[in-house]
Amino acid sequence: MSLPGSPHLARRDGVLGLDGVDLDGLARRFGTPLYVYSQAAMLDAVAAYQRALQGRAHLVCYAMKANSSLAVLQTFARAGCGFDIVSGGELERVLAAGGRPERIVFSGVGKTRTEMQQALAAGVHCFNVESEGELRRLSEVATAAGRTAPVSLRVNPDVDAGTHPYISTGLRDNKFGVAHEQALAVYRLAAALPGLQVVGIDCHIGSQITQAAPYLDALDRVLDLVEAVEAAGIPIHHVDLGGGLGITYTDEQPPRADELVAQMLARMDARGHGRREVLLEPGRSLVGNAGVLLTEVQYLKPGATKNFCIVDAAMNDLMRPAMYQAWMAIEPVRQRAGVARAWDVVGPVCESGDWLGRDRPLAVAEGDLLAVLSAGAYGMAMASNYNTRPRAAEVMIVDGQPVLIRERERAADLFAGETLLPAAG
Ligand SMILES: *Cc1c(COP(=O)(O)O)cnc(C)c1O
Repeated sequence: MSLPGSPHLARRDGVLGLDGVDLDGLARRFGTPLYVYSQAAMLDAVAAYQRALQGRAHLVCYAMKANSSLAVLQTFARAGCGFDIVSGGELERVLAAGGRPERIVFSGVGKTRTEMQQALAAGVHCFNVESEGELRRLSEVATAAGRTAPVSLRVNPDVDAGTHPYISTGLRDNKFGVAHEQALAVYRLAAALPGLQVVGIDCHIGSQITQAAPYLDALDRVLDLVEAVEAAGIPIHHVDLGGGLGITYTDEQPPRADELVAQMLARMDARGHGRREVLLEPGRSLVGNAGVLLTEVQYLKPGATKNFCIVDAAMNDLMRPAMYQAWMAIEPVRQRAGVARAWDVVGPVCESGDWLGRDRPLAVAEGDLLAVLSAGAYGMAMASNYNTRPRAAEVMIVDGQPVLIRERERAADLFAGETLLPAAG
């Protein structure tokens, strides 16, 4: 069976390796559950976008919510990326990793005053504003701070990206963005309010998109607006087409990033927008296929109707299956002889929703290692401490060498900020 996702992942003598580093050895050395990333895979992924954008004014803003570990951010900062952030916490994190503020775009529907002040003080590239209320508040905050906030409106192009309802964001009835038919009026307001400067337009239509058509539809809708807004005398400098490109979890065949971008640029050229700066906000497609989650089989519990394979990673480590019913490939790290049977691979958390995979044909025994593939995006970044489970350690393979980029959390870390009540009486 071929491994979905990454050419960086391969078996040698029956043992799974990432960039030639034996995953068995890493699990023994660093323990499990363990996230392992290939830096080379991340760099390949971003290079595909950059290649297609070469010769244009552009900025690839890594949507850091997909995986915000410092070494991952540092990797993309060094590769020349900007960042798409959605909170003040992400701003602090990316600055700590060496991200440049003038390459940061700030997205999100619920920016607080404090977050606005923080981003203005840092000098971000632009605020992707998602509502009229936010626009008015940003104007007040910027004026009070004696600054000018660069703004772009996130418009909702009302196209169906054909993904899971929780990760589709470009339709009229979800919480994101300004409706297409209101956008011109909100741009007029932005141009009139003090403390704001219109710099761009922005859309983001969903996640795990596996076709080019929704992007091209959204682009057309956005360019229609650009033309209308500029005809009203408000110049738009950049067009930000968001992120959302899918990856291969099983048999999906999303367009290659360079081919998708080339198609979008060709459409822009054909409509006379060839000289406009282009921003993109890829998240998953830069990191998803670059990572695996390693876990050790604790117990096998065969049953009358279901067989459970209980592992030491759980929904708190990797939420996607429980939250989105996402299918993620699960591979034994070391292949063993024997007949495969169907197992539900589940974690130790006290929830029936705590599963990583269902009905997976596997030949396994207690103590075996399993790898959950394509786990680089929305894995560690969504991890929690439910059941007082310390979060996993993370290793990045850099030039063929494993580097521990995050220590395993300790239980004591988890209650360090808590206090007991004073003695009674
Ligand atoms: C999440 C998000 C992205 C990245 O989405 P992916 O599917 O991970 O590429 C980009 N832009 C915005 C505004 C987002 O919220």
